[in-house]
Amino acid sequence: MDERIKRIRETGRGKRLLLHVCCGPCAAGVLPAVTPHFDVTLFYHNPNILPKTEFIKRLDTLKSLLEHFPQVKLIVPPQSEAEFLSAVRGKESLPEGGARCDVCFALRLDATAEYLAAHRDEFDAFATTLTVSPRKNAPRINAAGRAAADRYDVVYLDSDFKKRDGYLTSVRLCKEFGLYRQHYCGCGFPCPAQGDSHPCSEHQKSDINIVDYDSSYCEATARLFSETVLNVNAKDYSPEQLRVWARSADDRERWERSFTGHRAVVAVLDGKVVGFGDIDPAGYLDRLYVHKDYQRRGIASLLCDRLEPFADGDVVTHASITAKPFFRQRGYAVVRENTVEREGTTLVNFVMRKPSQNVGDK
Ligand code: SF4
Repeated sequence: MDERIKRIRETGRGKRLLLHVCCGPCAAGVLPAVTPHFDVTLFYHNPNILPKTEFIKRLDTLKSLLEHFPQVKLIVPPQSEAEFLSAVRGKESLPEGGARCDVCFALRLDATAEYLAAHRDEFDAFATTLTVSPRKNAPRINAAGRAAADRYDVVYLDSDFKKRDGYLTSVRLCKEFGLYRQHYCGCGFPCPAQGDSHPCSEHQKSDINIVDYDSSYCEATARLFSETVLNVNAKDYSPEQLRVWARSADDRERWERSFTGHRAVVAVLDGKVVGFGDIDPAGYLDRLYVHKDYQRRGIASLLCDRLEPFADGDVVTHASITAKPFFRQRGYAVVRENTVEREGTTLVNFVMRKPSQNVGDK
C-alpha cells in the first residue's frame, strides 16, 4: 500500500480504492489512514456474520461511521449466509484463527476481487480492513487477497493497518462517535445457540475487557503482579526466590516507567483488573500476569491475542517454570534455559520464541 501511495503522490493516478470492510469499528481504524490518499468505496461483503440481526447491526454501525466520512461511498452486494455455511462446511468446530478463517477471508476477498473485475473502469485496486484487527493474521489475509487478485486479474494492495495504531484509532473513534463494538468475530462457531456444547472463545470471554494500559492502572497491576508471583508461582520457586521476584513492583515510579514505549494492555472484569501484559517494539513480550483468583479462564490467551500481533517478527519471552506450558501450547519453543540474579538470589526461567508466521495462531 505504501508503494501505491507514493505513486499516487507522484502521478495522481491509481487512487480509486475498493476497500472490503468487515465492520464499522475496523473501518474506523482504517479510514483515517486511507482517505487522505485514496478515493474510497467500501464493499460490505460479510456473509460470515451470523445471525442476520448481527449482520444488520454491524452494517448500521458502519453507516453511522460514514456520517463522519461523507466522501466515502458504500456498496452492499447481494450475499447470503448459505454461501458462507457451505464454504466452511466440515470446519465449524475448528478454533478461530484456524483453517475456517482462511476460507472465510478467501470468500470475502474473492467477492471483492470479482466485483472489481466487473467494474474495472471505476476502481484501480482493492484492499481490506481485516488487517486492522489484533486478532487477525495480516500475512494470511494478504495471501488470500493476492490469490483473489490473481484469479480475477486485478490489483490487491497488501496492508497491516494494526501496525500504524489502526486498532487504537478504532477504539478511540468508536468511543468518540458512540459506535457499537461487537464481542465476537462473525460466525461465532462453535456456539451454544447453534446446538454446540462448546461456547466459542469470544462468547465465553466477552465479559472481559482488554483495554490499553495507562497510569491509572499502575497500582492495581503492581499489586496483581506481586500477589500472582507469591501465590501462583509458589509451586515452582522457593520462598526466597518469590520474595525477591515479587519485590520488583515495590517501587511504583519505576514500575510505571517500565511500561514506557511498550504496548501494554490490561484485562478488566466487572471493573476489577484481572490481568495485564506488555510487549516492546522489538517483539519482546515482557510481562504476562493473571490475577491469582482468575487463573484458567482464558485471560492470558486474550492478552496474548492482543499483544503478539504488534511484533514485526518473532515474539520472544522469558517464561517462568510455571508459565512454560502455557507458552508452549501457544506455539512458543524453548530457545534456552536462563538464569536471572536478583538481590543475590538466582531464578531460572526460559527464553522462548514464537515464529512470526505463527503469530495469529492460538
Ligand atoms: S472466526 Fe471470524 S474469520 Fe474465522 S470463520 Fe468465523 S467469522 Fe470468519
